[in-house]
Amino acid sequence: MQEVLYSSTRGDIGRIPASLAILRGLAPDGGLYVPEFIPQLQKSLREISSLSYQDTAFEVMKLFFTDFSEEELRYCIEHAYDSKFDTQEIAPMSEAGGAYFLELYHGATIAFKDMALSILPYLMTTSAKKNNVKNEIVILTATSGDTGKAALAGFADVPGTRIIVFYPKHGVSPIQERQMVTQKGDNTCVIGIEGNFDDAQNGVKKIFTDPELRKYMDSKGFQFSSANSINIGRLVPQIVYYVYSYAKLLKENRISDGDTINVVVPTGNFGNILAAYYAKNMGVPIARLICASNSNKVLFDFFRTGEYDRNREFVLTSSPSMDILISSNLERLIYHIAGDDARANAAFMDKLTKEGSYGITEEMKSRLSDFYGGYATEEETADTIKKLFEDTDYLIDTHTAVAAAVYNKYKKETGDSTVTIIASTASPYKFTRSVMNALGKGDEGKDDFELADELSKLSSVDIPDAVKSIRSAQIRHDKVIDRKDMEGAVREFLNI
Ligand SMILES: *Cc1c(COP(=O)(O)O)cnc(C)c1O
Repeated sequence: MQEVLYSSTRGDIGRIPASLAILRGLAPDGGLYVPEFIPQLQKSLREISSLSYQDTAFEVMKLFFTDFSEEELRYCIEHAYDSKFDTQEIAPMSEAGGAYFLELYHGATIAFKDMALSILPYLMTTSAKKNNVKNEIVILTATSGDTGKAALAGFADVPGTRIIVFYPKHGVSPIQERQMVTQKGDNTCVIGIEGNFDDAQNGVKKIFTDPELRKYMDSKGFQFSSANSINIGRLVPQIVYYVYSYAKLLKENRISDGDTINVVVPTGNFGNILAAYYAKNMGVPIARLICASNSNKVLFDFFRTGEYDRNREFVLTSSPSMDILISSNLERLIYHIAGDDARANAAFMDKLTKEGSYGITEEMKSRLSDFYGGYATEEETADTIKKLFEDTDYLIDTHTAVAAAVYNKYKKETGDSTVTIIASTASPYKFTRSVMNALGKGDEGKDDFELADELSKLSSVDIPDAVKSIRSAQIRHDKVIDRKDMEGAVREFLNI
């Protein structure tokens, strides 16, 4: 097997093995780690079609994480994709309304972040061991809701790690907050900030990059790391389910060997759809990568014009995990379509920081023909949930509905009838109120748990354990601090 090394999208800082890239998260020059080439699948998709999710994961990850031994990788995979998921299939598919919904929400926190964050802790602790890191790893996370809980669930009680999550006290949904503040595990710490998400994010960055603090931490046996979606240890595990779902379609005779499929992804930070792009480049016959945005349609405009422009109003939507104006993982695509050119990419990113926009060249634009950008309004999103449920009894959440709405528009516009997979990124129970509103049953007088009861009656889908278990769970984290006191809170938790 050919060794794969990683370099930064912004500069020639030397190539490093996967384990180091995972430990660091972000490159020192602010770039993202990218593989120097994208490896090809070694088994045919027909052969892969007889493998379990775990064995498929091994087939994919061994090609990227070439400095991990087979034993190490299998250890990580087995501990990640186990009974934390409510189905042995891990990522099952459901056919409805003329498409296959790839359900990525059967993990501990009922959103697709679990697909990568359930394995990242194991990849990270294994990487630490391989690189003789003796310190305990302290994961610092600022969250607007989904990532925080998935990271907490992933790192809870993982030996050699601690995790501290900061969230905006008045900026998350009631179910999201309850999920976080009831988190178990002696190594977990959840703190509310009097401020917004940006305050939490800036505070974390400041702590992260303080050289004095780093030295002091080191002397006490700690070092910081990140569970953000820019970590290559999150991207690679997401490639797995695109390989797995194509193979599954083959196995069930929904397609024949070599047939192409389309993939639709509800997109925010561009991590999930980039994983599909990597899967395509590994040999999965994907024709079109359909990038679905909500009203924050920066990416739609980018694919249409070649101009990325964040200078616009930020819109709050019913699909909050996609309310993003800077899609950080797009940087990896820019790097690749520039011809793996770090200097060119660095210039674009510099322009983005300074001016909030950049335009790519015609040549780069011509390399985007695999992508199709679309977006859905709030009304189209709600209508899609309602219509699909009325027609087929299949219930989707607001994020998935953005993708389904975009797919419907795409089909109408192009007449393309290629078999299509829609990435389904959250359980409808994670965004109960918005889903009930879409169905015309959002009762203002009821709280989110009561609405979950109603939704369950209506849909005959059981309330997931992730929601049931937090309803009466003990609150274990009730600290709320001023944003200026974040470093102090970290020191207090670590007892240093
Ligand atoms: C994070 C998230 C997304 C966006 O995924 P990206 O990889 O950031 O593009 C979509 N839906 C849900 C439910 C999410 O949690």
